[in-house]
Amino acid sequence: MANVADTKLYDILGVSPSATENELKKAYRKLAKEYHPDKNPNAGDKFKEISFAYEVLTNPEKKDLYDRYGEQGLREGGGGGAGMEDIFSHIFGGGLFGFMGGQSSRSRNGGRRRGEDMIHPLKVSLEDLYNGKATKLQLSKNVLCSACNGQGGKTGAVQKCAACRGRGMRIMIRQLAPGMVQQMQSVCTDCNGEGEVIHEKDRCKECEGRKVCKGVKVLEVHVDKGMKHGQKITFSGEADQSPNTEPGDIILVLQEKDHEEFRRDGNDLHISHRIGLVEALCGFQFMLTHLDGRHLVIKYPPGKVIEPGSVRVVRGEGMPQYRNPFEKGDLYIKFDVKFPENGWISTEKLTELEDLLPSRTEVPVISADAEEVDLQDFDISQGSSGGLRREAYNDSSDEEGGPHGPGVQCAHQ
Ligand SMILES: [Zn+2]
Ligand SMILES: [Zn+2]
Repeated sequence: MANVADTKLYDILGVSPSATENELKKAYRKLAKEYHPDKNPNAGDKFKEISFAYEVLTNPEKKDLYDRYGEQGLREGGGGGAGMEDIFSHIFGGGLFGFMGGQSSRSRNGGRRRGEDMIHPLKVSLEDLYNGKATKLQLSKNVLCSACNGQGGKTGAVQKCAACRGRGMRIMIRQLAPGMVQQMQSVCTDCNGEGEVIHEKDRCKECEGRKVCKGVKVLEVHVDKGMKHGQKITFSGEADQSPNTEPGDIILVLQEKDHEEFRRDGNDLHISHRIGLVEALCGFQFMLTHLDGRHLVIKYPPGKVIEPGSVRVVRGEGMPQYRNPFEKGDLYIKFDVKFPENGWISTEKLTELEDLLPSRTEVPVISADAEEVDLQDFDISQGSSGGLRREAYNDSSDEEGGPHGPGVQCAHQ
């Protein structure tokens, strides 16, 4: 259980995510004593934070939500409860950890810039979407420099840019003609629009005054049963950090990989299955391995006929519904009927077979002046020649010597 989406609440209690309930209790008692407002009036909100962390981590349901989805899980699962919203946004959104995220803190922080969302595709197999899957994703992102707390240098090193007086923009006035001026606003080049500068000698060695460093974030991603191609999984506030900016979200967009056997259409699955003529006429059974590894026996009784290209359905064996995985779509099977090859049976036996088969529908009338023509084999994958009869031109070398080569066909003309 050490792999959790977020560790802030554990950090507050000073325990590892694998701590037992007893360890949580111990840590809470010790900290609560230390930071109780009666004893320590200068501790600020520390006592409330400890209580909140303890409340969440000792409630199995809330703990599970928090471990799996972090802050987002608590927010969506109503984790805070009445009266807890303040401390909740204080912990997750109040800049306590240089971290902003979630809707409620956003609205409270109207003045703050919001960073870009980071969008990543996440390839998933149909098996993963059928069974659900927890996976870890390692991403690199900018994090506030820990050496300077995202300041870029020592306290006081940051100075207001003199060139733009801290506004980040400079206004230039250009005279176009006497009495006619144009006012132009441009980004200040001295501070790159930051509004502040740090002298080279005061810059933080770690981040060289950039205030952020490259960091690695491992996200615990839960692909839920029944999720679809294009569906998004959002990690609120996990995108690049930068000073005075509320980080955007990391958004994973599911990309369903093609499957060799199954094709998905909403919650339904489609496969095609090849059977022989005897199965098509006399019934059959076959085994299908489903996406979760179960073996299904699919039977069709003797006496029922499968026409080539026809479809049958197995109800309730499609994809599970998202958030309601016990309800499933259907499984459609299209049958491809393989007919026997030329010469599979002797001419005498054919007469016997004809007696067994349904009788011919009608006896054709052939008039005395009818012309008899030749019915030849044709490979449908080659397509028709568009009315240009190849045998009319004797220059195609690839037809020479074949059984249906130009020599044979010319003899008919
Ligand atoms: Zn400037
Ligand atoms: Zn730094």
